[in-house]
Amino acid sequence: MDQPDANPSYCPAPAAPAEPVAGPPYADCLECGKPTEYGVETPGAVLCPVCEWQEAQRTACSG
Ligand SMILES: [Zn+2]
Repeated sequence: MDQPDANPSYCPAPAAPAEPVAGPPYADCLECGKPTEYGVETPGAVLCPVCEWQEAQRTACSG
């Protein structure tokens, strides 16, 4: 990833927060393939709540 504006001491926010939808069809989680709470039209990567949480832990910024 080449980010000219990247600041080592700054914790970048997620690119584009996905919006939960009211009903199916739901997009499948990219990590485990389980249905997410996001619609199939949701742009970008969608993760189920479990993988989303794990991703958050993995990318968590302690600073
Ligand atoms: Zn998942």
